[in-house]
Amino acid sequence: MINVLSVASECVPLIKTGGLADVVGALPPALAAEGVEMRVMLPGYPAVLDALQGASPVWEDADLFGGPAQVLAGSAAGLSLYVLDAAHLYRRGGNPYLGPDGRDWPDNPLRYGALSFAAAQAATAGLAGWHPSVVHAHDWQAGLTPYYLRRRTAGGVASVLTIHNIVFHGLAPAGMLAQLRLDPTDFTAQALEFYGSINALKAGLVFADRLTTVSPSYGRELMRPEFGAGLDGVIRDRAANMTGILNGIDDLVWNPAVDGAIAATYTTPAGKPPNTTALRQEFGLPPADGPLCVVVSRLTEQKGLDLLLQALPALLAQGGQLALLGSGDASLEAAFRTAAEHPNVAVQIGYDEALSHRMIAGAEAILVPSRFEPCGLTQLYGLRYGTIPVVALTGGLADTVIPANPASLAAGVATGLQFTPVNAAALELALIELCALYRRPGDWTQMQTNAMAQQVGWSTSAAAYAALYGSLIPQA
Ligand code: ADP
Repeated sequence: MINVLSVASECVPLIKTGGLADVVGALPPALAAEGVEMRVMLPGYPAVLDALQGASPVWEDADLFGGPAQVLAGSAAGLSLYVLDAAHLYRRGGNPYLGPDGRDWPDNPLRYGALSFAAAQAATAGLAGWHPSVVHAHDWQAGLTPYYLRRRTAGGVASVLTIHNIVFHGLAPAGMLAQLRLDPTDFTAQALEFYGSINALKAGLVFADRLTTVSPSYGRELMRPEFGAGLDGVIRDRAANMTGILNGIDDLVWNPAVDGAIAATYTTPAGKPPNTTALRQEFGLPPADGPLCVVVSRLTEQKGLDLLLQALPALLAQGGQLALLGSGDASLEAAFRTAAEHPNVAVQIGYDEALSHRMIAGAEAILVPSRFEPCGLTQLYGLRYGTIPVVALTGGLADTVIPANPASLAAGVATGLQFTPVNAAALELALIELCALYRRPGDWTQMQTNAMAQQVGWSTSAAAYAALYGSLIPQA
């Protein structure tokens, strides 16, 4: 059995803003089957403390970046947790990263520096008799963990850092070096410094023993300036220690055979239509000759939905329909609300987990036109539900969808459509092609069947993580 402490800022079902939370919550059960005992360290947000059962203190610091802190061991939702309870840092409501004004909490560097520091210290000291061999840190919020392990402990615990999205760096002013217990001698371009600021993600990239990201293609993209967000050089330097391991989906939660949220469960494409009818009714869409397409997404620049607004007339001209669920940038929300004036377009602004299930089950296609996508989950849900993904050729979208073309259709392996370059004209062509395929029921049903047969759960990736942890443990 290998013990691994996972350190993250969010975890399903306790606290979630994006796909990171899904991964952090899914890994412990998936890894148990691979001989890895993973426990998770989280900040003591109110939602996490409220859910924690059997809490007992296992580590404390009388003054952790401005106040007392302790790590509480306990459990919630079937997960073994260590929760950093520090009222001055985490006892506040709302979004974990943003204040009521929609801006980052000004003390975010301290909040996540504290999480990283406590994780490194507690992992090295042992957590009431539980000794992790590896700490697995996620994204910038845990980015300083490998640094503190290297510089602020006696050693003995290896580290892995996973990049879920490279654009978030966790910058802090250089004046915070002492407060964050960072060595001024490490404030160099080779270590913590990034254009005059402290960069928490870069610290992890430099000091972790191994790096991973959530798809092989995203891993390669990160070495290029267009995708590396200024850290492509650091990634290139560490290429020999970097791997891409795809995310999976929880196939108990996302499974059309047992999904309690949908109108009718199904195991083959033939069982899907009642869900399509129900979805049209729910969104007030009329019957149509073309495919009912959905989007379930944050509405941000990354997701490329401005391209969809431009390409939408082509989809509608072919008889297709669009139902969108999402929230985010005010300008995109407003533009989609306006688009919904068309009878074949329906838009729901907001976040709604149950509705997202009904949409993915009922839709005939799911659109993911992201400009970059580290892995992406909704195209995987689409595959599982026989809902044809139309995706940009980037990152995890490139790695998980087999594009339809004469050869892949003839071989019976196509699962969706990919477009490149990632612009409105290429998306428009893909949507026209989608509608053409939809009018060829033989090919369409074959694609749905292929999609539903793809392995999109965690088993392959859990084995890859277990092998990675194993490679870090000195052989007896
Ligand atoms: P990202 O983490 O960049 O947002 P992912 O595709 O990796 O993108 O994960 C997004 C997750 O959030 C998926 O589980 C998706 O279903 C969910 N999601 C996004 N927006 C909404 C929404 N408005 N309502 C319900 N679920 C949503």
